[in-house]
Amino acid sequence: MALVVQKFGGTSVGNIERIKNVANRVINTVENGDQVVVVVSAMGKSTDELVALAKGVTEKPSKREMDMLLSTGEQVTISILAMALQERGYDTVSLTGWQAGIITEACHSNARIVNFEKEKITNYLTTGKIVIVAGFQGVTESGEITTLGRGGSDTTAVALAAGLKADRCDIFTDVTGVFTTDPRVVKEARKLSSISYDEMLELANLGAGVLHPRAVEFAKNFQVKLTVRSSMVEEEGTMIEEEASVEENLVVRGLAFESNVTKISVCGMPNNISGLSNLFTTLAANNINVDIIIQNVIDSENTNISFSINSEKLTETLEVLEGNRSVLLYEEIQHETGLAKVSIVGSGMISNPGVAGIMFKSLSDVGILIKMVSTSEIKVSTVIDQNEMVKAVETLHKEFKLDEIKVLQR
Ligand code: ASP
Ligand code: MG
Repeated sequence: MALVVQKFGGTSVGNIERIKNVANRVINTVENGDQVVVVVSAMGKSTDELVALAKGVTEKPSKREMDMLLSTGEQVTISILAMALQERGYDTVSLTGWQAGIITEACHSNARIVNFEKEKITNYLTTGKIVIVAGFQGVTESGEITTLGRGGSDTTAVALAAGLKADRCDIFTDVTGVFTTDPRVVKEARKLSSISYDEMLELANLGAGVLHPRAVEFAKNFQVKLTVRSSMVEEEGTMIEEEASVEENLVVRGLAFESNVTKISVCGMPNNISGLSNLFTTLAANNINVDIIIQNVIDSENTNISFSINSEKLTETLEVLEGNRSVLLYEEIQHETGLAKVSIVGSGMISNPGVAGIMFKSLSDVGILIKMVSTSEIKVSTVIDQNEMVKAVETLHKEFKLDEIKVLQR
């Protein structure tokens, strides 16, 4: 008998028919002889609707009350799913995050899970119950309800799988797996049969919405056997594991992209030992999240520093820089909006030199100018003009032969 954690996202529980379909899936697993812990999201877009509800009374709701509000979404799904299973004659119990023993840090709206008291769930499992847990929520040591950040039900599922030492954790969603890139944008995108934790973590952090980054972090730290697959169609999904085992000769396994990037250049700063730290601690103190950073030393006196931010933060960033001019002592600020970040990700880069070179040449061959670059061991990101983003992604998808992947069944 295996212990399986199955997570169903918002679309998969979007209406009563779909919840009945989820009940069927769970029943199939139980009839197969396995123990099941189910984690669910709020139905459909109901979390967004709750956010909109709050906006109706205030532009700045307190984080505590937002958590109180948003945590109700998942509570609807757990009870309805439990009723659907009971209607079919199955013994089941629904639990909120706190009832399930999910303890988080004392931080509202984006809390990390710090502990999982598993006795409650294991006791129910021993009595033969199907346990249904509300995703995305937990409780602090002092009894405050918290949420784990948007998309956080994935993290609940993986944390439970880790804590219960489950044999596997299946994330059921509205796509059939992890794709080489967004199939809505690049029609040649291919489903991967396997991807490594590290690659998935890079892609998730670069905005590939298929998995919550913290869920991948958990899976890696506790070696959880994780699969992403469709709740609607019977199809093999994508395995996320220590080392991707299939398509192993791929140097690049995925492409991520995001628009709405702005480049800011702080020109003519004094070239002294504390310049960089002054600039970035000032930005951080004002909650401005900086992505790529480039420093150009002009001469012994002067340096130019460029960084990228999300375009929504432009006005705020310019205000902060202007307000601190007398401390930062720069000569001029320039900015360029309408940019995008396009990244390639693949563990194969570690052992294959020249991957960045191939990327840059490929982009320059189709006339795309690269404005900023950043790299990690398994990632190269470029900032380019937003109008050229799709062309860049299509070009790179082809260059790294991602469209040639054969869909292999395991
Ligand atoms: N319902 C939450 C959200 O929409 C959590 C989740 O679905 O993972 O973000
Ligand atoms: Mg999700």
